[in-house]
Amino acid sequence: METLENKMRIGILGGGQLAMMMIQMSAKHNINFIVVDPNDNPPASKYAECIKSDYNNKDSLDYLIDNCDVVTIDFENVPSEALKYLENKISVYPGSYAVEICQDRLKEKDIFNKNNIPTTEYHIVNSEEDLSLAIDNLGTDSILKSRKLGYDGKNQILINKHSSKEAWSLSGKVEAILEKKVDFKTEVSIIGVCTKSSKTFFYPLVENFHKDGILNLSIAPYENSELQKLAESYHNKITKELNYTGVLVIEFFLDKLGNLIANEMAPRVHNSGHWTNEGANISQFEAHVMAIADINIKNISIHGNSAMLNIISAMPEDINENSNSYKLYDYGKSERLNRKLGHITVNNNNKKDLIENINRISKSFF
Ligand code: AMP
Repeated sequence: METLENKMRIGILGGGQLAMMMIQMSAKHNINFIVVDPNDNPPASKYAECIKSDYNNKDSLDYLIDNCDVVTIDFENVPSEALKYLENKISVYPGSYAVEICQDRLKEKDIFNKNNIPTTEYHIVNSEEDLSLAIDNLGTDSILKSRKLGYDGKNQILINKHSSKEAWSLSGKVEAILEKKVDFKTEVSIIGVCTKSSKTFFYPLVENFHKDGILNLSIAPYENSELQKLAESYHNKITKELNYTGVLVIEFFLDKLGNLIANEMAPRVHNSGHWTNEGANISQFEAHVMAIADINIKNISIHGNSAMLNIISAMPEDINENSNSYKLYDYGKSERLNRKLGHITVNNNNKKDLIENINRISKSFF
């Protein structure tokens, strides 16, 4: 009989929908999960023991050390001190070094450039004077982004709508970068999972469409073997440098000349990979858990064409929980402007049917 003693035990810092799906999608591996989250009843708390506490609460971290084999994260803004504290005693994937880089847009840009991965032009901005000089250099078709705590278009100011004085004031006067706007053809992301034995498995490129800076729709595969190879080579450079285990995602702009321009990366499973739950033999969530738990991954393959539509701000009233044409994920969160409340995935044998399906669903619900 299996006892808790010989079960793999994984701690997750963050109990959001990503943690929830890591737990749901890896049910067959019979792993015991413990989640730490400062909020009341986060999505993952329905599926695992959940400790309500700040991430750097020493008692909670000690509890994870005593009761887990490995710790991972469901969002990158956990204090790196917490990860460092855990790392001294227990395996943590991704490690604090990788997470610290991904918490800071400037450090991300530096690591991309060090590895000859193209980025858009940017300048460091620490004052209104810096901003004014940076605008002189890059022009007003540029975006002021805080170095930290910026995601889903948060903490970003379009310069062409504001003077440098206004923009600096609106930014909260925090450390930032000014980025030249990319006139892109589309946006794509590469999702790869690195095992402990240094193998990396990739999903095909995903095409991503954003609305107001927030991911709205992802479609996979984005078929282009040259770009796939290039994106994989960039991913390999980064994960090698970070000595990475688990899922890492890099988001790119595809410019009109066909160049991949790195925007940012996530040291975790990613919204643009939610379609893998229905569209791949192993979802990104299960793959991440398998990699960090050192469970052998033989291969990753996809079936058909898939799409993911985010449900943001409000849950559509007449959405069907048991539809034959799409799968609904409801994160069980209360409605709030620009909050991700759930998503829908669609899978079809051919792309034409997929697009028709997406259009029909979008018309009905959004
Ligand atoms: P981010 O939080 O950096 O991922 O930005 C969210 C979205 O805003 C991106 O996916 C793009 O759609 C848009 N965006 C951000 N930075 C730029 C840029 N430098 N040029 C053009 N669009 C951008």
